[in-house]
Parts: sequence; structure tokens; C-alpha cells
Amino acid sequence: MLIKGISASPGIAIHKAFLYVKEEVEVLSTLVEDVEKEIKRLEDALAASKEQLESIKEKAVAELGPEEAEIFEAHIMVLEDPEFATSMLAEIQENKYNAEFAVQTVTERLKQIFEMMDDDYFKARAADIQDVGTRVLNNVAGIENVDISSLDEDVIIIAEDLAPSDTAQMDKNHVKGFATDIGSRTSHTAIMARSLEIPAVLGLGNITSTVKNGEPLILDGQAGIVILNPTEEELAEYQEKKTAYESYVQELATLKEQPGETLDGHRVELVGNIGSPNDVEGVLRNGGEGVGLYRTEFLYMDSDTMPDEETQRIAYEKVLESFEGNVIIRTLDIGGDKKLPYLPLEEELNPFLGLRAIRLCLKETDMFKTQLRAILRASVKGNAHIMFPMISGVTEVILAKSVLKEVMTELDAEGIDYDRDIKVGIMVEIPSAAVTADIIAPEVDFFSIGTNDLCQYTLAVDRMNQQVSYLYDPLHPAILRLIKNVIDASHAHADIFTGMCGEMAGDPLAVPILLGLGLDEFSMSASSIPLAKKIMRSMRFEEAQKLAEEALHLATGEEVKELVRKKLDALDIVVM
Ligand code: PEP
Ligand code: MG
Repeated sequence: MLIKGISASPGIAIHKAFLYVKEEVEVLSTLVEDVEKEIKRLEDALAASKEQLESIKEKAVAELGPEEAEIFEAHIMVLEDPEFATSMLAEIQENKYNAEFAVQTVTERLKQIFEMMDDDYFKARAADIQDVGTRVLNNVAGIENVDISSLDEDVIIIAEDLAPSDTAQMDKNHVKGFATDIGSRTSHTAIMARSLEIPAVLGLGNITSTVKNGEPLILDGQAGIVILNPTEEELAEYQEKKTAYESYVQELATLKEQPGETLDGHRVELVGNIGSPNDVEGVLRNGGEGVGLYRTEFLYMDSDTMPDEETQRIAYEKVLESFEGNVIIRTLDIGGDKKLPYLPLEEELNPFLGLRAIRLCLKETDMFKTQLRAILRASVKGNAHIMFPMISGVTEVILAKSVLKEVMTELDAEGIDYDRDIKVGIMVEIPSAAVTADIIAPEVDFFSIGTNDLCQYTLAVDRMNQQVSYLYDPLHPAILRLIKNVIDASHAHADIFTGMCGEMAGDPLAVPILLGLGLDEFSMSASSIPLAKKIMRSMRFEEAQKLAEEALHLATGEEVKELVRKKLDALDIVVM
């Protein structure tokens, strides 16, 4: 059976399915007669939980390092806290409750105590208590905790969706593909799959209820399909495709040391998007010259507490030290679908139109200043650029720059060194900023077009909603015109460059058009760099300009795609 989804990360995987579905235990409150038996059930569950956590921690230390493993140490501490286990035992002994109810009651009670504390650190412990409570509950109920941190064989993960914490824990040696019920090309699972270079198909509807654990699968990330229980012929066909794809990737890799340059010497910058210092290796391996987007929110999201200045400085320095080229560090983009457990925000009716990114930072100025201090302190280690996200107009740029100025004055007073000429730019991802790029230009050193959001806001298409994903089209004439407007506005000033860090920058059908429109910098998932480079190195700049000019006169994105497809065919470029 073939199921069609959204192509999220290229490559072919032929492996068994591994169902990663978090089952919920239905907890009923009953009174037990055999108290001893119930206590034994609880004690066994506590012991099993400890064993599981110890082994996950050991693996995390070995594979991800001690910092990433800290979370599991915190979980073990919760488990070993006498208040935790003793209170559960008391619920059974004194109130004769069943073990499930005892675990749930105590977890809930302790969680609430921590949630009510003023201190951010203790507040965050509430999430740990919940995690550990769920683990113990699953063990009491005999539900096997699905664990993807340590797998015995190569698998394709089947899940509803994958949270950043899931991908952080995942056994990267054995996970060879993702297939999920929900998600889109620009959802974080997709971005993560591309940065890990794992083939992925998302938005498959209900793959989690269609596939059985251990069932053989074929996943074609480029075609966006999953084949369940493939026939011998299908297996042979895809094995051949897989081999062809691997040699195609190898051939592209030979361009690694070459610059992003057209046949007639028009040079652009080809850089990578990263979410953490761990992604640097992929960018370097694929020949990226620098970083066009460092999504710093993952540093905040992967932590139980607000990362302090020192933690941030160390992460930023690691990235800066890895590149001679530019490293664009985007300030915190939280809000929308991204939340921080330790930063409670009011519920919003339209979170994507709400208190997100720079809007939140301009409200929470202490948090913002801590990040700016960390970036500035790290800036002496490389070619740091600061980028503000979700800018809607020039006023926000001026406000954000005034906070930056304050931080610089503080560092001056403290005698701390930083790059005084640090370049400051904005993401152009709201249509109002794209339209007024000429007004904003004098205030910035660069623009970086964020097409993931620019499309959602211009076309009024929620980037996560599959029902309207057919309308999500970066090659829509409205988007092309906005892009042109931004590039032209920046080029009217000698020192300003325009880059793009939305997923469109790495789309082979967009690259020739963007090149022709005069985009100066292309920032993309590491694995997209080689093909984008090959396309650029196969064309003359004039050719690309002519193509862009033609595209601007077309009525639909489909027509633009057709035009580019023909061009790539003529250039003998295969997109696999
Ligand atoms: C964008 O919106 O295009 C972008 C690069 O930012 P993010 O995907 O993190 O919202
Ligand atoms: Mg964005």
C-alpha cells in the first residue's frame, strides 16, 4: 500500500517501522484489598524507572555529552527524592488506593507545589516531576515506555509528530527515516530531519494507526511517499533508487570546496541554517561557508530554565569559532507554536499574530539584554551578525537597536570587549517589512528574507495546516514581487546585502530565480547546499536574470515551476 504525504527531507529508507506513539494510561481510582501486592507493584515500577533512566543517561552522556544528559540526572533525582516515593507508598498503605491512582495523585500534588513557586528553577522542576510520574505510571500499568534513545536496529520512526525533545534523545545511529501524521515542509520536524540529513515524509494523515510496529517500509523523502509491506519488485526498484541517490549525493559532494558562483563569475554566499552548535558539522561537511540563520530558540527550548549569559556565550562562541564566513545569530523567536515551560505567557487567540519574537523580547527586556550581552561577548571570536526576527516596520528596528546600544554601553562600562562594528540586520518575514524595505534599509546592514513566515502571512496560509497547504506557494507572484522589492531596496544602498533563510532558498526550483533576482546570500539546511551550488555553477548570471524577468511576468507559481523545470532540464541538472 502506498501513502502520499509531504516531502520533507530527501533520501530513501528501506527499514522496519518503529511506532513511537505515546500511550496514555487511563487511571481509575479503586480501593485495593491486597495492600502488600499493590506496594510491590509500585516498588517494581520505581525500580524499573530507575533502571531505564540510568541507561538513558549513560547513553546520552556518551553520545551527546554531559550537558545534554543533565536532564536525565534531574529525573533520577526526582525519582530518588523520598517525598516522591514515600508519599506514593503512603497513599496505598493509608488510603488503600491502587498504585496507578497513588502515582497520579502524588505526581499532581508535587507538580502543583513546584508550579506555584516564584523561582524559575523550581518552576521548571514541575515538568521533570510530570515526566518521571508518567514514566512510573507507565511502568505500573505495564505499558512499555517507548524509548527511541537506544535502538537495536535500523528503523523508520512512525509518530504523530516529533517534539524537539524527542529528536534530541533519538538514537541517531539507528533512526533512518521519519514518517508522521502531521507536519509540513516548514514545520520543525521537517527542518530537524533536513539538518540531521534523515529522509522524512510528514503529513501522512494517520500513518500511526495504519502501520504496525516492525512492518517493513519504504520511505521516499523526495517523492513524499511511504510504501507499506512492499513487494519484491518494489523493494528491488527502491533499492536501485537508493543506490542511485547515494551516488548522486556523492557526486554533488565533489563540489564541496568550490564557491557558489555562476559560470561567468557572479559570486553569492552559500551558508547553512542551524539550530545548535551540533549542526555546524553538517554545514561544514556540505561546503557551507558560514551560517545564515542560527535559530537560538532551541537553546532556550532544550533547557528547563532560562539559559544564562554564560551558557549562551559558550554556545555562540562554538559556532563562531567554526567559520571564517558570516554567522548570523537570530535573537530569540519564541511565541507562535514555540513555548518555553519556564516563561508562562497569556493564552492568545492567534498566537502567530501575537506576542512573538521581537515583540516578546521588547517586552521582556531583561531576557533580551542577556541574550544580546552573550552575543556581543562571543562576537570577538568570529564574524558575528545580529538578526532581529518578526520585524513589522522601522520603529521596531529602532527600538531593538536602542536596547542593543544600551547593552553595548554597559559592556563598555565593564571594560568587556566586543565587536563594535557588529553587523545588525532583520528578518523580512512580515509583508509590511517587505513592502517598506526602502524605509528600513538605512537602519540595517542586511536583510534576510524568511519565506516560511512571509508566505504564511502574505498568502494567509497557516504553515502548519495541511488542509490549506496546497495554497502555500513560495513561487506565487506576490511572494516573488516582495522578494524583488526587498533585494532592490537593499541594493539601492551600497553596503547592504539581502539573504534568504527561509526554506525557499534551498529549493532547486527557486534557486535560479532567486539568483537572477540578485539575492546575495542563500542560507539553507545543510543537505540542500550541494545541489543549490551545482545549479548556480551551471548557469550564467545573465541567464538567471532573464529567467527571473520571465518568471515575474507569469501568473501562477505552477507556471514558474514549469519554466524552471525546463531550464534545469536544458542544463542537464537532475533533481533527485
Ligand atoms: C522563516 O520564517 O522563513 C524562518 C526562516 O524562520 P522560522 O522558520 O524559524 O520561523
Ligand atoms: Mg520565521
